[in-house]
This record gives sequence, C-alpha cells and structure tokens, in this order.
Amino acid sequence: MDIARRDLIISAAALTLTSGACAAERSDRPLGYAIVGLGSYGLGVIIPQFKNCTHSRLAAIVSGDPAKAKRVAAEHGLPASAIYSYANFDSIRDNPDIDIVYVCLPNALHAEYTIHAAKAGKHVMCEKPMAVSVAECEAMIAACKTANRKLMIGYRCHFEPFNVEAMRLARAGAAGKIRYVRSEHGFTQGDPSKWRLKRALSGGGSLMDMGIYSLQAARYMTGEEPIAVTARESTDRRDPRFAEVEDMIDWTLEFPSGAIAGCQSMYSANQNHILLMGDKGRIELEPATRYEGNQMWTGKDGREQQVTPPPGPAKTQFAGQLDHLAQCVRSGREPIVSGEEGLRDMRIVEAIYRSAREGRTIGLGGTA
Ligand code: NAD
Repeated sequence: MDIARRDLIISAAALTLTSGACAAERSDRPLGYAIVGLGSYGLGVIIPQFKNCTHSRLAAIVSGDPAKAKRVAAEHGLPASAIYSYANFDSIRDNPDIDIVYVCLPNALHAEYTIHAAKAGKHVMCEKPMAVSVAECEAMIAACKTANRKLMIGYRCHFEPFNVEAMRLARAGAAGKIRYVRSEHGFTQGDPSKWRLKRALSGGGSLMDMGIYSLQAARYMTGEEPIAVTARESTDRRDPRFAEVEDMIDWTLEFPSGAIAGCQSMYSANQNHILLMGDKGRIELEPATRYEGNQMWTGKDGREQQVTPPPGPAKTQFAGQLDHLAQCVRSGREPIVSGEEGLRDMRIVEAIYRSAREGRTIGLGGTA
C-alpha cells in the first residue's frame, strides 16, 4: 500500500473513532432507545411515545421484573435479546441496536446508570432531577465526555408548546422588563412507603421532584442565572410521610437584572403554576407543566387574553424530547438541555437546602 493511501485510511479510522459515531448513528434509521426502569414514567409515559417519534424507536428494556419485561417486550415486538436486567445491564455494550439509554429510575440511581451507560458506549437521556448531588452530576458529565457520548436531561417543558411560547414571549418583551416570576409545583403524596419519601432513593422531598419545575421556570422565564437564594422549609415532621424528606419549601432567587423569582414546591397540596410579571404586563400558565391540558394567558394585570401557542414541531413534548437527542447524536450538536443544564439546577438545589438549613441567604455565581 502506498504511504498516501495508508495515511488516508488511518486518518479516516481516527475520524470515526473521535467522532464516536457508530454505524447506526450514521445511517438514516431511527435511533434505538433502551428504557431503564419500567415504572409509571418509563413504561406508562415514555414507551407509548415512540409511536409519535420520527427519529427514535424502542430498542430494548431494562427491568428487575422478568415477567413484566417479557410482557412489555411482547407488546412492543421486541425480541428476547432486547430484555436486560439490572444485573446484566453492562452487556448492552454488545448490542449495536441500542444507541441511547433512557434512565427512568429513582433519583439516587441516575448517576450509576448514566455512568455505566456511557462506559458501555451509549448516549444518555436521564430523567430529572439529574442526580442527588452536584458531585454526582459532575461525575456523569465527565463520564459522558470521556466516552464522547451525549448527555441530555429529561426537561420535557423545553419541548412543550405553551412553555416554549411563554419563553418566546418573555424574550420578545411581551411583558416588558421582567420584574418578578412566581412558580409553584406540588401534589399530595399518599403512601409513606413510596421511594419519593425515602431520602436514600430520592435525595430529598418535594424540591427534588416538583421543585425542579419551579426552579426551571424561574430560569427559563427570566433567561438569567440567579446570584443569590433565600429559602425556608415548612414540614410537619409528625406526619409519617415526611419522616425523611421535606414537604414544603419556598425560595426566593435574585437575578442580576434585579428580577426576583418566588418559587415553591410541596407534597401536601396540588399546584402547577407559572406567572411572569413585567413593567408592561404579564404571562401566566396554569396548569403550566402538565403532560397535557396546559393553559396560558397574557394581560396587563390579569388573565385578559388566552393564548394558544402554535403546535410544536413534534406531535408531543415527549416525542420532541426523544427526537431532539436522536438528532443531536446524528448531527453532533449539544442538546438544548444538556448535563450542564441539570448541573446548574443541582447547584441551586444544594444552595436552597443550605439556605433553609442555615437560615441565611446563599450567594450564587449568576449571570444575566
Ligand atoms: P416509579 O416508582 O413509578 O418507577 C421507578 C422504576 O424504577 C420502577 O420500575 C422500579 O421497579 C425501578 N427500580 C429499580 N431499582 C429500584 C429501587 N432500588 N427502588 C425503587 N425502584 C427501583 O417512578 P417514576 O414516577 O417512574 O419515576 C422515575 C424517574 O422519572 C424519577 O427520577 C422521576 O423524577 C422521573 N419522572 C419524571 C417525570 C417527568 O415528567 N419528566 C414524571 C415522572 C417521573
């Protein structure tokens, strides 16, 4: 072989290795997702959404319940070779049909399965909250970077037409100069034995679960990063549901422009709301971040004009989210809600808990 031809072959091989693209990623076929955790979200919400996707398909399932896995595989036409348990999860490495792993497990397991998936050469979609600490988020980002794999957080509201339109209106100055954002998210928890109420699996209470929506809303409605947070917790510790985690927590974020966000999450009341107030008017969503049925209004000082946003490019927010990561894998772009975005939230979450614990304002490194 002449030297020029050999060099060409070597550099082509090096390019393939550095781009990290496998054959499936370069072809036009929809990318294959392995869903880890067949619980209410993974099985009940995400798996049925593949029928609405253009660039994504269900390729495998990971479950600790062999009978359930067999039933789900049969329902979705998956072969036995597409069923994995938590014990043999790492062998997904040998399945080229799996391009992306979607982690739909209790929060404290997100880091472990994300890191293992990246080491197995797979891209990762990880549910919110990204993990249970800043240190875990950083380890997840590092593992995906080392493996040259994409990492996206399941922040579906960035693909939900009402929220996308609210962000557009806020940025376009529809409410004028943004002065204040309010957001509260909560639902009434029932069974005290649920993993969401066990600190070892949840990492915290309502803040880790529903509070993430309020925090995200404060950041995506203002388009700014906070410079300080002051928080206060209110939990009835005699209530058996709240022996380990907080019920209600409210926090105030200060932004560089002078805007303020008053946020709240709770496990003892139902609430789902975002309100932005500016010097010229307001944008309000209620319910704001549900799977469907969200509503939005604009007005001067009330709900004057109901707004119906143009439909998003995808059939549903879930399909939009799944296809976005598939397209990022194909094109090499970073997801709009990357691991870094999850990490930003987790830094603020840790500061919220610290502020509530220490009873003082905590400074953050915010930017306008
Ligand atoms: P779930 O309890 O319904 O399901 C959890 C799954 O994890 C179950 O299949 C369970 O068997 C499995 N699992 C594996 N190891 C486990 C362990 N050690 N303990 C408990 N369960 C274990 O929970 P869910 O509501 O599906 O939530 C899963 C994740 O999805 C959470 O991180 C949650 O925050 C997130 N979520 C996101 C949304 C959203 O709208 N983006 C909605 C719901 C849940």
